[in-house]
Amino acid sequence: MKTLVIADHDNGILKPETSKTINAAVKLGNAIDVLVLGENISEMANQVASINGVATVLVADNAIYGHQLAENTADLVLSLAGDYSHIVASATTTGKNFMPRVAALLDVAQISEIIDVVDAETFKRPIYAGNAIATVKSLDSKKVITVRASSFDLQTEQAAATVSALDSTFDNHLSQFVSVEQTESERPELTAAEVVISGGRGMQNGENFALLNGIADKLGAAIGASRAAVDAGFVANDMQVGQTGKIVAPNLYIAVGISGAIQHLAGMKDSKVIVAINKDPDAPIFQVADYGLVADLFEVLPQLENAL
Ligand SMILES: Cc1cc2nc3c(=O)[nH]c(=O)nc-3n(C[C@H](O)[C@H](O)[C@H](O)COP(=O)(O)OP(=O)(O)OC[C@H]3O[C@@H](n4cnc5c(N)ncnc54)[C@H](O)[C@@H]3O)c2cc1C
Repeated sequence: MKTLVIADHDNGILKPETSKTINAAVKLGNAIDVLVLGENISEMANQVASINGVATVLVADNAIYGHQLAENTADLVLSLAGDYSHIVASATTTGKNFMPRVAALLDVAQISEIIDVVDAETFKRPIYAGNAIATVKSLDSKKVITVRASSFDLQTEQAAATVSALDSTFDNHLSQFVSVEQTESERPELTAAEVVISGGRGMQNGENFALLNGIADKLGAAIGASRAAVDAGFVANDMQVGQTGKIVAPNLYIAVGISGAIQHLAGMKDSKVIVAINKDPDAPIFQVADYGLVADLFEVLPQLENAL
């Protein structure tokens, strides 16, 4: 019984989700190999080798994997699958892209977004937008699992494990990379940030989101938004937090002018400390908030920034 974890990275920068996913994989109790695929990734493969619990790092360094196209990635994973009882990846954009293909090609059911490992066959995962936790048992011969990384801690480090290059390449020509459009930001990535400050419909317009900038700068925070703020065109949709947006669990989450609809809570209620600023004392966000400020955001945000 061995586990294969597929590393998640962004243009050669290893994502913290990889370490957290390895933390989840350790709980399965098997030896762990990690597949790192991409182009010019030797430095990153060495980083993975130092994550505690990793036995071997398998490196597929080839232009074919430069953009981690799901079709080629799934074929590569499939070629290795024979040796493994568990195949595990983070439930990120990349993992959610290729893992269902791996499950389909193996003819097994994917176990999605686990938040805990009970044993090697039994897992906990949120359902109904996080309002209930299902304990699921899979009897499939191979378990294809995506991990909600925010539910697991970063792994500690170890002396470097063995790094081994893979020679075989898979290019099935089913897809080709055309272009990528990415938001450039100097702020931390939402799902990895220690502090997140989010604005909702109460911000009234996109310009007013500037009120969050100064606070975010002082706290080293990422800026998020509710779906109402995104749908109204205040900010870009990659800032959306919630059921149909990003799932975050920072040490500190500050919700400003956000009512606290269950779909928003599904994306942030596992944050360690939640602060809510809302002028309506009955807003549901106060039910999950550790600290609540009933106030007009336009008065208190400048005061908060000054105080910081
Ligand atoms: C299938 C589905 C998926 C969804 N997915 C998501 C999702 O991923 N993320 C998400 O966020 N939503 C999601 N939604 C939408 C969700 O139901 C809510 O409509 C949305 O979260 C509301 O956003 P809001 O809190 O910003 O707006 P509102 O509910 O309108 O709340 C605005 C809040 O601002 C406060 N406010 C107004 N002015 C001020 C002021 N001057 N000072 C202080 N407070 C003020 C008000 O009191 C109010 O509480 C989804 C809905 C559906 C049906």
